[in-house]
Amino acid sequence: MDQHPDTSLSYALHLDQSNPLQGFRNQFYFPQFEGRDAIYFCGNSLGLQSRNTEGAIKQELEDWRNLGVGGYMRAKNPWLFYQDNFREPLSRIMGCQPREITLMNTLTVNLHLMLLSFYRPTPQRYKIMMEAGAFPSDQYAIETQVKFHGLDPAQAIIEISPRPGEKTLREEDILSSIQENGESLALVLFGGINYYTGQLFDIKSITQTAHRAGALAGFDLAHAAANVAMELHDWQVDFAVWCSYKYLNGGPGAAGGVFVHERFATDPQFPRLAGWWGNDEKTRFNMEKGFVPKADASGWNISTAQVFNMVCLKASLELFNQAGMDEISKTSRKLTGYLEYLLGELSNLPFDIITPSEPSRRGAQLSLYFPERGREIHQKMTESGIIVDYREPGVIRVAPAPLYNSFGDVHRFYEILKQMQP
Ligand SMILES: *Cc1c(COP(=O)(O)O)cnc(C)c1O
Repeated sequence: MDQHPDTSLSYALHLDQSNPLQGFRNQFYFPQFEGRDAIYFCGNSLGLQSRNTEGAIKQELEDWRNLGVGGYMRAKNPWLFYQDNFREPLSRIMGCQPREITLMNTLTVNLHLMLLSFYRPTPQRYKIMMEAGAFPSDQYAIETQVKFHGLDPAQAIIEISPRPGEKTLREEDILSSIQENGESLALVLFGGINYYTGQLFDIKSITQTAHRAGALAGFDLAHAAANVAMELHDWQVDFAVWCSYKYLNGGPGAAGGVFVHERFATDPQFPRLAGWWGNDEKTRFNMEKGFVPKADASGWNISTAQVFNMVCLKASLELFNQAGMDEISKTSRKLTGYLEYLLGELSNLPFDIITPSEPSRRGAQLSLYFPERGREIHQKMTESGIIVDYREPGVIRVAPAPLYNSFGDVHRFYEILKQMQP
């Protein structure tokens, strides 16, 4: 952990001056509060709009206006191949090959589609293991998938919980549960980062252990994508899904991302539910019987590219490309470490940070747990121009995004909290 000399503003400004990502802040619009930028630490829920977004949307509007259906082939970014624009930049963020990436639908829909391909229970192997307290949408998806196969969720779903008195999971408990249930386990489906605690799981070890047990491993990376560095290909992850509107800044309801490891992505026999957009372009318009999947992750595409649900992400990815995930990870650790340091200097507010303190076990977010009056304190923060969110029970989530948040933001946050009456 970085050592910090003091809580002064001048030190925060010094950190900003030596931050290589400093310039990116001006590429984003911030919500305003009393005539200045609000303190926006909610990029884990909805990332901010980058200034190049509007121009990117205008381009598609213009091509549609001028070309009509001709835009599928002749738009500046031909819509027929629109998803291809995302593979390179997303593969750098997720640590995989471009052909292992596609962009389609939205997160929970994609989770269902991946479960249809990767969760195929047999009488011996039918269990899914997940973290207790996963995001509700994921819980519902898994519950209903299990029922869809005629199984009882109480039998087929194994949830790993923190030990009594603890808030986060122990890595060894996850791995030993996988081993213990090895014979009956079909799939391990974990979050990358838990939305409530901010805990980052060891994706590589979970995947290895699942594979050794004869199970598959998939991940919901909603809170990890573009937040922490990933190596999905080398970690041998079987599949992953994420949304594009959190750290990726793709705008509300943006199309979601999917990773399918090349082992499966290149196998046209691998089961899936199909639509024409997953069919090889060479034969797509023959309009004939017999689905011929593209031999990569886009073989899971079903419908026409949702250009206007993708274009904002296209703009945002240009900035990620310029910044690079290495630099983003480095800056993120410093920024969140600095936030943790300043929070530790506060003595007026009754909270505990439940997010792990080791930088390797978290991303940008710190979860502040208020045993009481969390909601009220969140309200006070909102009235002071701080945009963070509250999640029951008792947690205020604070997530400085390294691409647009500054050490100065963290310092202002600290100054406001310091003045707060408990
Ligand atoms: C944000 C989030 C979702 C939201 O899913 P949508 O289908 O995009 O509404 C689902 N799961 C997790 C883990 C999330 O963090």
